[in-house]
Amino acid sequence: MDRRNFIKGTAALGGTLGSVFGSGSGAGLGARLVGGLAPGALWLEAVSEAAAGPLEYNLKADLIAPGTYVVIGPTEYFSHENGGNIVNTAFVDTDDGVVVIDTGPSLRYGNELRRLIKKTINKDIVRVYITHHHPDHFLGNQAFDQDHIASLPKVISNIKAEGEAFVENMYRLEGDWMRGTQVVLPKVALKSSEIIGGHAFEVLPLGGHTSADMAILDAKTGVLFAGDLAFLDRAPTTPHADLARWHKSLGALEKIKHDVLVPGHGPAEGGGRAIAQTRDYLKWLETMMRSSIDQGLNMTDIMATPIPERFSSISVLPGEMQRSVAHLYRAMEEDLLPLVSKGGG
Ligand SMILES: [Zn+2]
Repeated sequence: MDRRNFIKGTAALGGTLGSVFGSGSGAGLGARLVGGLAPGALWLEAVSEAAAGPLEYNLKADLIAPGTYVVIGPTEYFSHENGGNIVNTAFVDTDDGVVVIDTGPSLRYGNELRRLIKKTINKDIVRVYITHHHPDHFLGNQAFDQDHIASLPKVISNIKAEGEAFVENMYRLEGDWMRGTQVVLPKVALKSSEIIGGHAFEVLPLGGHTSADMAILDAKTGVLFAGDLAFLDRAPTTPHADLARWHKSLGALEKIKHDVLVPGHGPAEGGGRAIAQTRDYLKWLETMMRSSIDQGLNMTDIMATPIPERFSSISVLPGEMQRSVAHLYRAMEEDLLPLVSKGGG
């Protein structure tokens, strides 16, 4: 490798430091060190590989119930470093084949997920459920057989309406990670629950995080896939939120007997923490905003509100709270002050 390539390679590596030295591929570099190469040669080789080789998410499957695996994403914002992998996906081994829940943020992620499923279970994929139309949950669809991809009719129409704009945004945010990614619509509009390979997958048509959020209960294992109706230790996102409806959906999820809940973002666990935390945070956000607007505070003032100590385990705060204030302010203001001119505040 000549000097010019080395410099170019170093720059390329800089752009992906987060993933190159993250939990997965760091082990590969370490192994080469042990191999006894001169440090200079090692560095050149590592740089060359990173510059020329493909970006990788290094997805890992965690077993959370019999035959049930989750692929937990970092609780971060979209970035060039994480390639849009901030999301949880999951797959279930049934007698008739594999059932997948959500496909991730890109074609690249979808392909890696499909390979991970093959390596873990080695059966055909027979169903792919999409929980809602946010880009990190469905842009991996292209890696799967469209005939198998299913969601609520409203989720499908939401993807149809907004999918292209999401892809454009994701290309801006993630760059090369998105290469080749296109919108693929779910082909199956779900009207009822399904039994697949001895598992009853109960389709729960809810909403509030977006206008259509599908949760799924696997009645056989007691695993509740909540999509983005539940977040855990990662601040909920609200660009399409209807808070009153979201609370109703959380109430509905709470009533469903389950052993483990898989949130859209954050760790999967039993015990009700994801539902309780999502509800507590959204309630605090709304109450804080309404009382601030009542006191005449403007949007910038409200964004400076301190985050209560009890939310200290939640990542991407205060940033996500400030985004929510921007999303929700105008509607709440109009709600609270119907006689004030719309330009106020
Ligand atoms: Zn979402």
